[in-house]
Amino acid sequence: MTILFASDLDRTLIYSKNSRGTEVHEQDLAAVEWVDEKPTAFMTTKEIKYFHKISPVITFVPVTTRTADQYNRITGIFKPSEKPTYAIVSNGAVILENGRPLNEWSDKVKRQLQLDCTTIEHVMPQLEAYAKKEFVLRVLHAESWFVYMIIDEEMFSVEELENLSQIFYEQGFTLSHQGRKLYIMPNCINKSTALQFVKERIGAKTVLAAGDSMLDFDMVMSADQGYIPSHGEAVKQRELLPPHIFVTNNSGVLAGEEIVKKVCEYLL
Ligand SMILES: [Mg+2]
Repeated sequence: MTILFASDLDRTLIYSKNSRGTEVHEQDLAAVEWVDEKPTAFMTTKEIKYFHKISPVITFVPVTTRTADQYNRITGIFKPSEKPTYAIVSNGAVILENGRPLNEWSDKVKRQLQLDCTTIEHVMPQLEAYAKKEFVLRVLHAESWFVYMIIDEEMFSVEELENLSQIFYEQGFTLSHQGRKLYIMPNCINKSTALQFVKERIGAKTVLAAGDSMLDFDMVMSADQGYIPSHGEAVKQRELLPPHIFVTNNSGVLAGEEIVKKVCEYLL
């Protein structure tokens, strides 16, 4: 029986210097990503041990908002021979099979973006008004899929987020605020539909899923067992979460360790 473990990466399994917290000593951390030879993302050494323990018994599918190139920089989690067969990148717009994008999937997403009028070309004219706001530092594209803004967190308020969420929701987008980034995500680009496709393709019976942000929420909720780090945006309505959702006691990189430990306990 195939058990699939689908997990978001950043702020769920792996952590930058800014998001990892201060409780863990440098010697208990392992780098898993490097940019220009500088380590940029980390896991605890214990988390890596737990991960290697579960690897032979589960099918691990990374599910990330990173593009394929950004995903491929994360080389420290898996041994080269154990790189996952499937990876969901660009928030579900692209499914990699043995490292190559499945065109049948991405073509379907492209058609839906046109039907929903949620392509980058559709959203940019509206965004121009917001791009002038003082909290917006830059507007960027993730390939041809979606737009995100780099924001000044001190200038950005909860009210602003709620207001923007409402405006974009009516036009078919989900907003997600993750540190300095504010994603404006077309609803047809989502992690849970892409995961459903992979689940059917490999014939998995059970799905465990972990994630921290609103972009992970549906995927985590529709899993047989879900995990949310306590620092996550997805934990906002904690009291409404059903019993199959586990919220970690720890935050930061220790929440990542706790999630993989929990998956380990579930399996063994
Ligand atoms: Mg995340």
